[in-house]
Amino acid sequence: MKTFTYNVLKHRHGCHIEKVLGLSEQQLEEDFKQYQKMQPDASVKDYMWSLFNRMILNTAGNYLTQSGIYHSMAVFVAEYDGENGNKFKRMSLAQEVNNAQIETAGGSQSVIWELEIIADPDCEHAKSLDGTKFPITNDLVLPLANDDCTREFCRCTTSRVPKRDEDGRIIFKNRPQVQKPKKKFWDFWK
Ligand SMILES: [Zn+2]
Repeated sequence: MKTFTYNVLKHRHGCHIEKVLGLSEQQLEEDFKQYQKMQPDASVKDYMWSLFNRMILNTAGNYLTQSGIYHSMAVFVAEYDGENGNKFKRMSLAQEVNNAQIETAGGSQSVIWELEIIADPDCEHAKSLDGTKFPITNDLVLPLANDDCTREFCRCTTSRVPKRDEDGRIIFKNRPQVQKPKKKFWDFWK
């Protein structure tokens, strides 16, 4: 298992922390000092975990950002705790689904969207699902990062794609109607 130091924290997560929590490098250092004062027994790992949680709280409703944070949490527990990170990866994927649901809600879109799996090339389970497309329903739970997963954390992701018919053509909800020929203007007098 790797050791998590303050330097690793700064280099791997500094950008993300600044973007989400608005803490510059200097402010982060100050924040860490305060944290250590309040929690003298806590480790840098504990501090990172508290930052993850603050980032989640700060980004409510921003599904794609939260998906990224949960993914980082999955990587973190797998690499620095030696634990299976898929619990957090499932939360990350759920936020990708939430985002797709929000973006396709309302029925005003001209195409029908689906969510396609882009599989982790190192996970045998995910590879068997690569390219599978799911309708974006309210109860969609992707069958990824579950007990069938062969990695400590799955790196699967999804892509939103328009639904196609069996010939590979995009299905449009509002196909242009065939227009009736307009009356010739002199028909008016008939
Ligand atoms: Zn997997």
